[in-house]
Amino acid sequence: MIKQIKYLVAGGGPCGIGAALRLQELGENDFLVLEKEDYAGGLATSFVDAQGFTWDVGGHVQFSHYKYFDKIMEKALGKTGWLTHERASFIWMKDRFIPYPLQNNIHRLPEDIFKECFEGLEKALANNSSNSLKNFKDWLLASFGEGIASHFLLPYNYKVWAYHPEKMQYGWIGERVSVVDIERIKKNIEEDKDDISWGPNNTFQFPKFGGTGAIWKSLASMIKPSKISLATEIDTIDSDNNIVTTKNGEKIEYQYLLSTMPLDILCSKISPMPEAISSKSKELLYSSTHIVGIGVEGPTPKHLAKKCWLYFPENNCPFYRVTVFSNYSPNNVPDNNTQYSLMTETSESPDKKVSSDNILQETIDGLIASKLLNPNHKIVSKFYKRFEYGYPTPSLTRDEVLCLCIPYLEKKNIYSRGRFGAWKYEISNQDHTFMQGVEWVNKMINGEQEETFTL
Ligand SMILES: Cc1cc2nc3c(=O)[nH]c(=O)nc-3n(C[C@H](O)[C@H](O)[C@H](O)COP(=O)(O)OP(=O)(O)OC[C@H]3O[C@@H](n4cnc5c(N)ncnc54)[C@H](O)[C@@H]3O)c2cc1C
Repeated sequence: MIKQIKYLVAGGGPCGIGAALRLQELGENDFLVLEKEDYAGGLATSFVDAQGFTWDVGGHVQFSHYKYFDKIMEKALGKTGWLTHERASFIWMKDRFIPYPLQNNIHRLPEDIFKECFEGLEKALANNSSNSLKNFKDWLLASFGEGIASHFLLPYNYKVWAYHPEKMQYGWIGERVSVVDIERIKKNIEEDKDDISWGPNNTFQFPKFGGTGAIWKSLASMIKPSKISLATEIDTIDSDNNIVTTKNGEKIEYQYLLSTMPLDILCSKISPMPEAISSKSKELLYSSTHIVGIGVEGPTPKHLAKKCWLYFPENNCPFYRVTVFSNYSPNNVPDNNTQYSLMTETSESPDKKVSSDNILQETIDGLIASKLLNPNHKIVSKFYKRFEYGYPTPSLTRDEVLCLCIPYLEKKNIYSRGRFGAWKYEISNQDHTFMQGVEWVNKMINGEQEETFTL
């Protein structure tokens, strides 16, 4: 007999967990979460390696735009399960650390480059040319000028996204990129001051134990065990008869399907699927993420003691970002008095190839080149994992694809949400994706409008 489920949820990451907990909270018992891995948490999972070092899937910082999410975070780890940190992020370029954002600290660059950056900024502001911008590259040049764009933003964004910025739109930016306040910049130059406090995450919280994954492990454990099925991958979806078949051969009939798997994969699993939708979904771009963690013997070097995460625009190292992960919690390493840990992120796409065979050694060489490691340091732990879907790219045709595919699927009672379900980087952090799950339930049960996810 085919199992029948009213609300079927594909994926047990933050979005799926948000939906499940909200369904439970509203007293709805007819639901089931299917998760392909043997753990819940999705990309917000943590791993402990054989040497006892904890690693996240890249630097996860808790942002929150929602009171509901704040309460859930407290429920996950209690009031005392967190450490609070002041954000201290830096850029490593021209053989020095410069506080982020660069435009507020250009006086820390070598004199000739500082002049080039400052003149470029003034020229860009005077031009104020926001009309004829075709892509993210145009936007970066128009907003920051030639100097900052060529020395930092263009190479850095290529390293992060694994696509050249001309392949990307700029409509997603919002609060995700620090823009220009010329008076503040002039004041910083005059006062010869380091300006590090920018943006929505000046302070942030991090779990005392277990990395970011501890949050989602705890929340997943609040879902009734019979309502979440791990190691259960959805293989095919018959959208005419509302039937999901799992890789284990089980068939489940749903009334409504919330899918948090990548939208392009979702479309490939559904039949029948019109060719127009299927081919459009293949236009979506994404990058993969390589995480290399290096555990080092010795106390944290003085110049890293107060640093959180660091950006790397230059090509003497493969990674775009390094997190001094032992600074987030002393419990991320087995013995914080004698060990520290560095977690690196490297992006990959068809436009930017990375070799899994060489990335570990290239990362160690890059850490030495950027003075985070000294060749005499003893490495006591090496962690490596590659994630096929890391960043959803805000490509030029992304919105057109979403506007075609998502309404089509909704007519079939399939709702695609979450980091790669909605494919919107600007709403793909833990708070956004968790709330997309919650708001979807509020819509289905109470008829409320979704606020976080809009097309
Ligand atoms: C490098 C990096 C850095 C990040 N930094 C931050 C940060 O600083 N702050 C922040 O808040 N967020 C950060 N994030 C984002 C955060 O990880 C995501 O917001 C969150 O994990 C998205 O949750 P989700 O449930 O939408 O998707 P996912 O976490 O991707 O979960 C989807 C789930 O679906 C499952 N699945 C897929 N296919 C199937 C199938 N066929 N059948 C069943 N299950 C399936 C997957 O196994 C997965 O568990 C970062 C992400 C990355 C990659």
